[in-house]
Amino acid sequence: MRSETGNKRIVVLFSGGLDSTTLLSYYVRGGYEVLPISFYYGQTHSREIRSVSEICRHFGLKDRLVRMDLSVASSALLGDGEIPSRSIEEMNTVPSTFVPARNLIFLSIAASYAYSNGAERIAIGVNSVDYSGYPDCRPGFIASMETAIRRGLDTEITLEAPLQYLPKREIIRKGNGLGTPYELTWSCYRGGENACGRCDSCLLRLQGFMEAGIADPLSYDSYPDFYAEWIKENKK
Ligand SMILES: [Zn+2]
Repeated sequence: MRSETGNKRIVVLFSGGLDSTTLLSYYVRGGYEVLPISFYYGQTHSREIRSVSEICRHFGLKDRLVRMDLSVASSALLGDGEIPSRSIEEMNTVPSTFVPARNLIFLSIAASYAYSNGAERIAIGVNSVDYSGYPDCRPGFIASMETAIRRGLDTEITLEAPLQYLPKREIIRKGNGLGTPYELTWSCYRGGENACGRCDSCLLRLQGFMEAGIADPLSYDSYPDFYAEWIKENKK
């Protein structure tokens, strides 16, 4: 936590996924007045919006869902081409699921929401350790965006990214200790009734749970081999 000065009202970018739900737990438990903000932008995995509602209800928070037209952008997450299935070792290039400037747009809207509601902090659950390689999840972008928000609004709003350097297993351990309802979250880029178990997001999530020594409570169409073997060996 960067600072204890100022008010404790914070806007949290919330997708219904594992990382941002951990953030909600973190700030709610920390005594913050949390204002979640979520986005429907035509994502193929709009199943996550159901998680957003369920998790906000769990925490007794009122979500602000922003609907936008992002059809100028091309991305597999917007229905342009197939969602790739690649191994974790191959996640060193920016994949077709990258939505150009997504966090730039989301943070700009979150800044407007924070300013309008007197919140002195904005939090985003980006991570640059176990991630898909998206450039707008890296520390340089977050630092630059904080500067842009401060200059653009002439305020001292701080942009916090407390999960930035944590491996997924640490995020899960931390969240589990805070009682985060991971059974309500949604990470999969596909978006059927069950998570697919094959996209980048499912693989990183399952690897994180395995390394944390905790079984993922979500239902999957199929497990990748590494996770299936681990579950079998540990009779989780
Ligand atoms: Zn998936």
